[in-house]
Amino acid sequence: MAVVLGLRADNLEAYVAAIFRALGSDGNEAHQVAAHLVDANLTGHDSHGVARIPRYVGYARDGLLTFNARPKLLRQSATLAVLDGDGGLGQAIGHRAVAEGVARARQSGVALVALTNVGHLGRIGAWAELAAADGMASLHFVNTTGAGMRVAPFGGSDARLSTNPIVIGLPRQDAPPVIHDAATSFIAEGKAMVARSRGEPVPDGALYDAAGRPTRDPAALYTEPPGALTAFGLHKGSGLSVMVDLLAGALTGGGSTRAGVRRLANNMLSVFIRPDGLGDQAAYEAEVGRFLHWVASSRPLVPGHRVLLPGEVERETRERRRRDGIPMDEASWAAIGQAAQDGGLAAAENERLRAAVPA
Ligand code: NAD
Repeated sequence: MAVVLGLRADNLEAYVAAIFRALGSDGNEAHQVAAHLVDANLTGHDSHGVARIPRYVGYARDGLLTFNARPKLLRQSATLAVLDGDGGLGQAIGHRAVAEGVARARQSGVALVALTNVGHLGRIGAWAELAAADGMASLHFVNTTGAGMRVAPFGGSDARLSTNPIVIGLPRQDAPPVIHDAATSFIAEGKAMVARSRGEPVPDGALYDAAGRPTRDPAALYTEPPGALTAFGLHKGSGLSVMVDLLAGALTGGGSTRAGVRRLANNMLSVFIRPDGLGDQAAYEAEVGRFLHWVASSRPLVPGHRVLLPGEVERETRERRRRDGIPMDEASWAAIGQAAQDGGLAAAENERLRAAVPA
């Protein structure tokens, strides 16, 4: 794999914000989107980071994105917010969904937020981290209305489902939050996108080609007609994926996965819980600490390794990449530069900001 030495997160964020400003975002939106994309890279989820910029520029050119959207509260009560995202950039509008949930849960102990008609919400764990930073536990169920239809149900060989992530986050007062953040597909679609650009295979069992044959070639997902990812965990993961698509799509009113959709729209059903609304905060903190220690103390299967808790990989990767830089293959880095130019960033500015990013 050809890798550029490493990208500096702060300079990369400034470059990405400039690209989004050139596309039409105001300063706040450009900042939120850039921070989200770069943090996805920092946490190791390159699939949800800046490598997506060429796609965004393409969507913008095709009129499929709404910049500086104005989300609308369609329905609300002390414990409920139904939010139409106005087709806006998910990495920005996700902040509004979390704010609506946290504010209600702070008052009522619990809140439900349905967010529909919003562009890609990115790394969904970011929304649980945001809630946890405000002391809230949260659960998030996400689908696409169809532009992300990439997953075959168990027993099927072509796609009917989106990658349908489930995220559960628990806050801790004097320790990092516990965040489980996973697609219900064997691998997230973006992982196949990144593998294709790096010339690497996907894991065994993750993908069928268009004829329904197992393959490790990520290009098989992007043929016409396309191949399909498998759900994780055989019939169990497939069943979870079906339920997430129904919770996020049918229950919110945003729509479950269907064929023929070009505009990438996510829907997210989120639950927010204030831990001291259920019982004693100190007892909760102590029990979380005890249990996590108990789980992590399992005898390692492979000597020299250890059990990792949900969210630990992301936290460690973030620290390391902040220090050592974000690895990026040359093809993706070149594509981002081209996309910046196509998106309207002036050539001199593109060169200047870009030059400052590699460490
Ligand atoms: P993943 O498989 O990398 O990680 C899943 C979970 O497992 C994480 O909570 C992680 O902390 C944990 N984990 C990872 N390695 C571990 C280990 N060795 N031991 C113990 N725990 C471990 O995640 P994924 O399914 O590939 O998803 C990648 C990203 O894609 C996520 O951020 C997800 O939100 C995002 N996504 C977004 C959408 C969307 O439509 N917006 C759709 C699908 C996925």
